Amino acid sequence: MSQGSFNNGTLYIVSAPSGAGKTSLVRALLERLDAIQVSVSHTTRPMRPGEVDGINYHFVDVATFERMIARGDFFEHAQVFDNHYGTSRPAVQALLAAGQDVILEIDWQGARQVRAQMPEAVSVFVLPPSREALHERLSARGTDDATVIARRMRDAVSEMSHFDEYSHIVINDDFATAVAQLAGLVLAERAKLTRVRERHGALLAALLSGIEGVE
Ligand code: 5GP
Repeated sequence: MSQGSFNNGTLYIVSAPSGAGKTSLVRALLERLDAIQVSVSHTTRPMRPGEVDGINYHFVDVATFERMIARGDFFEHAQVFDNHYGTSRPAVQALLAAGQDVILEIDWQGARQVRAQMPEAVSVFVLPPSREALHERLSARGTDDATVIARRMRDAVSEMSHFDEYSHIVINDDFATAVAQLAGLVLAERAKLTRVRERHGALLAALLSGIEGVE
C-alpha cells in the first residue's frame, strides 16, 4: 500500500493499554456511524472463551503467521507481550478502496509502522481516567493473583508511555463523552475539503454544473 493510494476511506489507528475500554468504545462508535469498519487482525494467541475466529481475530499458528510475514501479507505486525499480531494489507486496502473508513486496533509498535507508510492516518490513544480505575479494571478480569495483576499494570504503563506519538488522545472517563469525542473526530475528518473532494466528486460537479466561469 503506497502513500496516497488508499482512495476514499480514512485509516484510523486506535491504541490503548488493556483495561482502558478501547474495544467497548470502538464497538459503540461503529453503532453510531456508517461506512466505518474495524480491521480483523491475525494473531497467534489462543482464542479466549467467547471469541469467534474471523470475528474477533483470525486465529493462526506461528508457522502460518511467519509465512504471511514472508509473503508480505502484513501492513504491520508486531509481537505484543507473548503473541504475534498483524494487520492484513490486502483486507485493509480493499476496505479503503471501497470507501470504508477503517479502524486498526493495534499497539504502539504497529502504529509506528502504519504512520511510516501512511502519515495521513489519524491516530488516537485511549487513556483511562486514573491509575486506580485502570488497576480496578485489570483486577476484575477473573483472577486475583497479585503477580498477574502487577504484570498487567506494568504492561499497561509501558503501552501508555507512547501516548504522545498519537495525534489525538481520548480519556475514557465518561463513556458517552468518549464515544462522542471519537465520533466527532471521524466526522470532522470526513468534512475536510480533500476528503469531500474525494468522496463526493459527483455531488460537487452536479451542484456546480451549468454556471459559467466555474471550473
Ligand atoms: P488482545 O490479545 O488482548 O486482544 O490484544 C493485545 C494487544 O495487541 C492490544 O494492545 C491490541 O491493540 C494489540 N493488537 C491487536 N491486534 C493487533 C495487530 O494487528 N497489530 C498490532 N501491532 N497489535 C495488535
